[in-house]
This record gives sequence, structure tokens and C-alpha cells, in this order.
Amino acid sequence: QSPHAAKPASTVTGEKTEGGGERPPADSKKIKIGFSMDTLLEERWLKDRDLFKAAGEALGAEVKILAANGDDAKQLSQAETFIGEGVDILVIVPHNSEAMAAIVKKAHSTGIKVLAYDRLIKNSDLDLYVSFDNERVGELQAQAITKLVPKGKYVYIGGADTDNNAHLYKKGVFNVLQPLIDKGEITIVFDQWTEDWTPVNALANMKAALSANNNQIDAIICANDATAGGIVQALAEQQLAGRIPVAGQDADLAAAQRVVEGTQTMTVYKPIQSLAEKAAELAVKLAKGENVNADRKVNNGKIEVPSVLLSPIPVNLLNIDETIIADGFHAREDVYRNV
Ligand code: BGC
Repeated sequence: QSPHAAKPASTVTGEKTEGGGERPPADSKKIKIGFSMDTLLEERWLKDRDLFKAAGEALGAEVKILAANGDDAKQLSQAETFIGEGVDILVIVPHNSEAMAAIVKKAHSTGIKVLAYDRLIKNSDLDLYVSFDNERVGELQAQAITKLVPKGKYVYIGGADTDNNAHLYKKGVFNVLQPLIDKGEITIVFDQWTEDWTPVNALANMKAALSANNNQIDAIICANDATAGGIVQALAEQQLAGRIPVAGQDADLAAAQRVVEGTQTMTVYKPIQSLAEKAAELAVKLAKGENVNADRKVNNGKIEVPSVLLSPIPVNLLNIDETIIADGFHAREDVYRNV
């Protein structure tokens, strides 16, 4: 059995370490967590990084963090570095939900368990998945926008095709839109992924959508607030900002400001602190071999992964004060800075 696999203390005899000493059982030594992140580009990931580190440390663990700048090869090698350093558990936000399956295999071969954070790792024997209900995120967006625009021409600007979440968001959106499309009330006039979720790619997509439709668009749903930034910029260039409803996600500060300024209709708030704390708590438990209470199962193409999915919260002008501001996610003076 590997040094990382958890064993009840009574059966642990101690194992030789490189220095010839005895490795204490996982539940009495300091747990080492390797947190492998895709990117720190969007504002939310900085919160995830800081809150996860704080939550892990509050539980007595050591948290090592590496971010891969959206580069699969780099993320694979960083995760291998963690394995080589002998972390007790890997917590991964995969850039590419397929590519990181190789790391799950490698980690398991040395007895290290893997928790997928926010984004699922597909086609692997993943140990645990902790995220939000991402399909629900898309449903909340589409419910908010169809309330305002029950009929008309819709644009959908998705996230990165390589991110499993982008597919879940889209699925949620179409759960709500499809019946209206079938009735002929809504037409999808543009539908594209946004490579690597970048605002500049979203801007280009939105310019293409506007010119293909002679600016005749009634509503826009986009997969997150970073892409919404690019979309609102494209609208502003046509003097259309604030005139076409736009939905985003993440409750980024810039998006919260757009909501109060009237250029973005809604965003979806995912309390990152709850995600970080839940993931840290369960990572430490997994590392110690303790039972983990995961009430959901998500199929990743290979197995039913035990999962914990937290609830996302829709935010618009009417409830922004009692949601993200009341929670301290953003300060009121920052959100209302420009109005
Ligand atoms: C996350 C979003 C984020 C996006 C881009 C998704 O997997 O769930 O919150 O905006 O990645 O980083």
C-alpha cells in the first residue's frame, strides 16, 4: 500500500521515508494538499486560490498552489511535481476536462486521491467532485432573460469547449430555451464557444453575431462575466449597450458594476467561500481516508463520481444588495462606484 493511502491508525506500522525515518500515519501528520489551478485570469480564481488556501490552513493542512496559465502540458507537469513532492491529496481545477484524466491515473498509482474543484475531470476514476450545480447556472440565466424577452432572436455565447462546465451551462440554458424554440417563439441566431473564455474572443464572436444579423438581436446569454465584458463592449461600439438584455455569470466586480449601470441584466453569484471551504474540508478527509459525505453522483463518462454541488444564486439590480453585497463578496462602494 502506498504512503498516501489512508489506513486506520491502529493498522499503521509506519513506513520508511527517504531519510530512513518513519512516516507517521496520514491522520496524525500535517496533510499536504497540492492545488493545481488552470488559470488566475478571471477574478474569481484569485478568490478561489486565497480562500482555499486559508480554508486548508485553518484545518491544519499545508496548501501548495500552482497555476498553469491555460496550458495543458504545464498543468500536467505541475500536477506531476506535486505527486513527486509527496502531497497527500491533489485538488485540481482542470483547464481541459479530458486531458487531466492522465493525472488521476498517475496519482492513483502512488495512492494519492484526486478531488476535482469546480470543473469535472472526465473519463477517469476521479475520487470526488466539488462544484456548483452548473446546469442550474444556465437555467437561471435563461429564466431571467426569457422573462424579459419571451419572444425574439437570441444569441448564445458559450464558454471554452474544453471546459466541461461550459457544456453544462449551455445544457441548462437550452433546458429553458428549447420549448420556446420548439414553439417558434425564440430563434437562436448565433451560437458559438469562446476559446479559453477570453473577453477578446467573446468580443469577436459578438461582432460577428451583430454583423450577421444587421444588429437585429433581442437577447444575449453568455457563459460568464469575462465574456459578457467583451459582449457589452461590442454592443457599446454599436450604441446598443443597455438596449439588449445580457446575462453573465460569476458576479465579477466589473459585471456587478454593469448590472447597476444597466448594461448587463443579470449575473449568477456562486459563493466561492462555500466552495473553497467545502473542498478543503473534503480534501483533508479524503487524505485521511475518512468517510466523505457526497450526496450527488455525476457521470464523468467512466464512473459515477461522488459529488457535492452547491447552489448558484441569480443576481440582478433588485437583489444585488441582499446577495453579493450583504455577503461581502464585493463592497457596496465598489459596486456603485460609477453610478
Ligand atoms: C467556471 C466559471 C468561470 C470559467 C472561466 C468555469 O469553469 O465555472 O466560473 O468563469 O470557468 O474561468
